[in-house]
Amino acid sequence: MPTAIYPGAFDPIHLGHVDITRRAAQLFEHVYFAIYDRPNKNILFPTQERVRLAQEALADLDNVTVISYRELTVDLAQRLGADAIVRGLRAISDFEWELQLALTNRELAPNVEVVCLMTRLEYAFLSSTIVKEVASLHGDISKMVPPNVEKALKNTFAKST
Ligand code: ADP
Repeated sequence: MPTAIYPGAFDPIHLGHVDITRRAAQLFEHVYFAIYDRPNKNILFPTQERVRLAQEALADLDNVTVISYRELTVDLAQRLGADAIVRGLRAISDFEWELQLALTNRELAPNVEVVCLMTRLEYAFLSSTIVKEVASLHGDISKMVPPNVEKALKNTFAKST
């Protein structure tokens, strides 16, 4: 049975990510939930915090390990001996970017397969950006994120307003 990594910024982890991880954990013997340390976008939670939130949210999945990384995703996959990179797809708008990424990764590491899992309908609109936007305006995020993340976002935005 193969091993996979599920890479992303996860700033923070939300229920769409949890669902993809849960499903990947049924397909692969082991899944590394890999949090990119230096994403090319503004980050709300420092890496250690993103790791902690994901560890708590995924604690019931025995074959999932949360890690952070700084290198190229394919280099991480090879270092861990992973056979596949899992990504989640929401809409056609995700497809172009994911295809570009997958083709680049294949060029760099032909032996690592990219596996895209389709979102569940109820999470199709969810993104970390939307979650942060709603939380910053004190909206209800309880159906978007695990309870520990809801608490962390409430604390963060309580401090800043
Ligand atoms: P990245 O910056 O790598 O896109 P994200 O944390 O935004 O990092 O997303 C990580 C992965 O999870 C990506 O493959 C993304 O498409 C996927 N993803 C994000 N939101 C959802 C969702 N609501 N349903 C399914 N997959 C999702």
